[in-house]
Amino acid sequence: MSDTRAYKTDEKIGKEVEAAAPSSDWEVVIGLEVHAQISSDSKLFSRSPTEYGREPNMNVAMYDVSFPGMLPVLNEFCVDQAIKTGLAIEGTINRISIFDRKNYFYPDLPSGYQISQLYHPIVTDGHVTIEIDGLKKNINIERIHIEQDAGKSIHTLSPNNSYIDLNRSGVPLMEIVSKPDMRSAAEAMLYVKKLRMILRYIETCDCSMEKGSIRFDANVSIHKPGTPFGNRAEVKNINSIKFLGQAIDYEVARQIGIVESGGVVVQETRLFDSVNIETRSMRAKEDSADYRYFPDPDLKPVILTEERIERIRATLPELPDAKKERFIKQYCIGPVDADVLVEEVKVADLFEEAVSASRFVDKNSPKLIANWMISELFAVLNKNNRDISDINFPISYLSEMVDLIIDGTISGKIAKTVFANMVETWRRPEQIISELGLVQISDDLVIKRAIAKVLEDNPNKVTEYKAGKLKLFGFLVGMVMKELHGKGNPKMVNDLLQEALR
Ligand code: ADP
Ligand code: MG
Repeated sequence: MSDTRAYKTDEKIGKEVEAAAPSSDWEVVIGLEVHAQISSDSKLFSRSPTEYGREPNMNVAMYDVSFPGMLPVLNEFCVDQAIKTGLAIEGTINRISIFDRKNYFYPDLPSGYQISQLYHPIVTDGHVTIEIDGLKKNINIERIHIEQDAGKSIHTLSPNNSYIDLNRSGVPLMEIVSKPDMRSAAEAMLYVKKLRMILRYIETCDCSMEKGSIRFDANVSIHKPGTPFGNRAEVKNINSIKFLGQAIDYEVARQIGIVESGGVVVQETRLFDSVNIETRSMRAKEDSADYRYFPDPDLKPVILTEERIERIRATLPELPDAKKERFIKQYCIGPVDADVLVEEVKVADLFEEAVSASRFVDKNSPKLIANWMISELFAVLNKNNRDISDINFPISYLSEMVDLIIDGTISGKIAKTVFANMVETWRRPEQIISELGLVQISDDLVIKRAIAKVLEDNPNKVTEYKAGKLKLFGFLVGMVMKELHGKGNPKMVNDLLQEALR
């Protein structure tokens, strides 16, 4: 398939994002609907718990099974969570929002309708900034509304029966709807990653893929730039970022194939088959009119006061983009390292804890700490399939070790041994160094003695070096280091050897 990526100017940022030499002039247009489970211990309209992984139908109150006469009671914490999310994406928090019923029949929906917000969602506008090929681009958000999840039909337990589990019935969701602003699968994946990062920072959704806390519907169409958008296919219920990319790539190829062979893309709902990596038609796309939406007569409009919104605004933490900028400025670390460190708040906090425990912040210890965390610490954690919260030594040990590199007690090479030992035995670097006798040799008399011995043992090499074979210097350094059992201070060995060969 030809490369169909082409990018348009992002007016908000005002930077031209150029296509990577598209060989075809189809432009891809993508808008995403993200369903994020609101972090809340209880459901949206009942007191049932939302706890994951319980026996079927354990998290069910009479309201959740639609017993006659049961009425919804709005969980105000979920509203706060949606407001917080709206503020984090710099959206407009609507002072009045209204719950509507979306009517349809399905066995896992006992009431015959889902409560959602169609006409007056709680949040409109807002944006998420992604960075692609070094350029920033805003993906605009159309709306965030609050809605309830449905139950689950289980068809795999018996050949003759289907079962219904209503544990998820009424679980609170936010639907975050983007504008059709993405122009490639890569942009869509970056958008979702950034959104997930923000939701985790503000703790309004845990974004666990395995628990199904976050799911994506991808709306995909193609057109020639300068012409109206094409008909879109909506690929439903994608549950991983990798699948999102695959579903979009498949859709784009399919649609270009149809149009280039003279056909027309029909607007429809499709599903993604992650085994065969393809999308398949599910049904013709229904209009909102098909659902007979109307305001829920059992629920009052949600009216928000300024005071409430401001109280929630005050709880917003520093967000990923701001943290990244600050890390770059405050600690002189590169943007790539900063990206890694801010991806998870826990990692960012540990980094700052390590920096504040270092004696040499003025001598660039933050940069060294960042390097050691990213390359060594994460490698060990990955290898053992561990998470950053599994670190079993105080992070100040890392600061101590970095300080010992900076003050010349150990070399970077010895530090690797110290680090490996520290991770295994949870002991302080000082202790490891003294027990294993790893202190770097910085005594110039001892180094000079080793140099003298090496020069004496290798008279030919010295002559050749002096005659111009300069690369022998490395060999001689190696011999001196060997003489010092690998513990010579590298800079001193270099300097003193230069001096001796003059
Ligand atoms: P629904 O899917 O419920 O009918 P909307 O009409 O609001 O809802 O559109 C849903 C999503 O489709 C939004 O994310 C929007 O950006 C996206 N979208 C709309 N038109 C197109 C298009 N031509 N191509 C791709 N995405 C589109
Ligand atoms: Mg939709």
